[in-house]
Amino acid sequence: MNDQNLLDKVVSLCKRRGFVFQSSEIYGGLKSAYDFGPLGVELKRNIAAEWWKTTVHEREDVVGIDASIMMHPSVWRASGHLAGFSDPLVDCLNCKERFRADKAPRAAPGTALSYLKGGKKGEQKVEAIAADRGYVCPQCGCQELSSERQFNMMFRTSIGSVDPLEDFVEEVHSKILSKSELREKLEAAVKSNAIYLRPETAQAMFVQFLNVQQTMSMKVPFGIAQQGKSFRNEITTEHYIFRCCEFEQMEMEYFVEPGTQAHWFDYWLNARLAWWKQFANNKNAFRARAHEKTELAFYADACVDIEYEYPWGWGELEGVASRTNYDLTRHSEESGVKLSYFDQQKPDPKTGKMGWRYTPYVIEPAAGLTRGVLLFLLDAYAEEKGVDAEGQEKTRVILKLHPRLAPFKAAILPLMKKDNLPEAARAVVADFYKAGINVSYDEQQGIGKRYARHDEIGTPYCITIDHQTLQDQTVTIRDRDTTQQERIPVAAALEVVRKRVAQA
Ligand code: ATP
Repeated sequence: MNDQNLLDKVVSLCKRRGFVFQSSEIYGGLKSAYDFGPLGVELKRNIAAEWWKTTVHEREDVVGIDASIMMHPSVWRASGHLAGFSDPLVDCLNCKERFRADKAPRAAPGTALSYLKGGKKGEQKVEAIAADRGYVCPQCGCQELSSERQFNMMFRTSIGSVDPLEDFVEEVHSKILSKSELREKLEAAVKSNAIYLRPETAQAMFVQFLNVQQTMSMKVPFGIAQQGKSFRNEITTEHYIFRCCEFEQMEMEYFVEPGTQAHWFDYWLNARLAWWKQFANNKNAFRARAHEKTELAFYADACVDIEYEYPWGWGELEGVASRTNYDLTRHSEESGVKLSYFDQQKPDPKTGKMGWRYTPYVIEPAAGLTRGVLLFLLDAYAEEKGVDAEGQEKTRVILKLHPRLAPFKAAILPLMKKDNLPEAARAVVADFYKAGINVSYDEQQGIGKRYARHDEIGTPYCITIDHQTLQDQTVTIRDRDTTQQERIPVAAALEVVRKRVAQA
């Protein structure tokens, strides 16, 4: 299967089977937004739950928070997002595409270029030699480009019941102002009660550092974790749910003693890489890519992207950064509240006296949950050739999702819709519900079609209740990947599924 084909097939399966829908589809859709359907939301929640389990529940040194999406505007001034969270925006003068300069296809000076005047539908072919711009339009391949403008990616909105535009109109309605004066006054009015949707979840962990450390008596090294929505007004949304304007992140800030950051950076990078791989079939599709010096933020002393080989090439899945003490220092300066830590057991390296107050350094593993959903769908999609019951050649589509991530852990299937088989099947379903295991009761269509349906949505086990069940209290359990079936006591079905899912 070629790579574009794979993405197309996953997109089509997601719509057909209720994983992902286009947002506001009946109104023509909103290009950069997607809705998770009944199966997509289960997959997403399972990934998030696994992350929470390993990052928070299974560790003494990490606690979680769930902070507001809207934060005080000073947060974004301190973090640098107001001044610098921008991408270089460029317009193609030939085909009118708007794109990010740093993500555009590279073209070294002297490279031969060929493109259509007027864009894709143009007829006149133009041959050119790349000048020193360094990149070309991702859409038409030309170098007729506008200059780069910095575009702030934070979504701005306003808070409070006072409409700042009232005062603005009052102030300017009888004046004759130049374009730039008008713009300046409008900008000032809008900014007066502006707030921003968070472009990352991380800042709340810095801002709540003291509250969390003190209420939970946390000792350095310790971490604060959070999952939730983030918003970025991306210049180009691309590759389905890979880059959207509204997405979910799973981030952790791990506060460490100055001087120990290199050790913890390696520790978290390895831990995060191993975490992703344990759920994937293709473990070679992950790599760690260290940031070049030019990519590294000025305050960071290391940054490695955990990348996945998507159908269009390697791309980021998670960033692991060693952020020094930059964030806590900046928020201390901006707020006037000292965000530091006092270690009674350690001597101050400067004075040699017992008791050391310092600003912790931070290691940040910042993962994308929305991107995680896409990666596991791409990783799981498989087709197998076979023959059906009538001897016809057919293709079996299987979503080989890790059982712990699969939306349903099992499908409970009465062989027929009669002879008390549905009642017996519903009794099994009730046991699973009581145990908190998500299963699907399914009695629609023939058993073969039902197996195929559950293979396609990644259900690892199908439990079939047939006439023999009523006689000897046994059921068949079918494995999604091998299609092997075995008979087990109905009373053991729950434990068998629970054990196999836990040990997968
Ligand atoms: P990229 O280079 O792809 O723009 P980034 O370096 O800006 O990503 P971070 O700020 O490090 O991303 O955010 C951490 C993670 O959040 C990313 O690794 C990615 O998984 C996810 N993420 C960031 N932006 C988006 C987006 N627009 N849509 C979906 N996920 C995103």
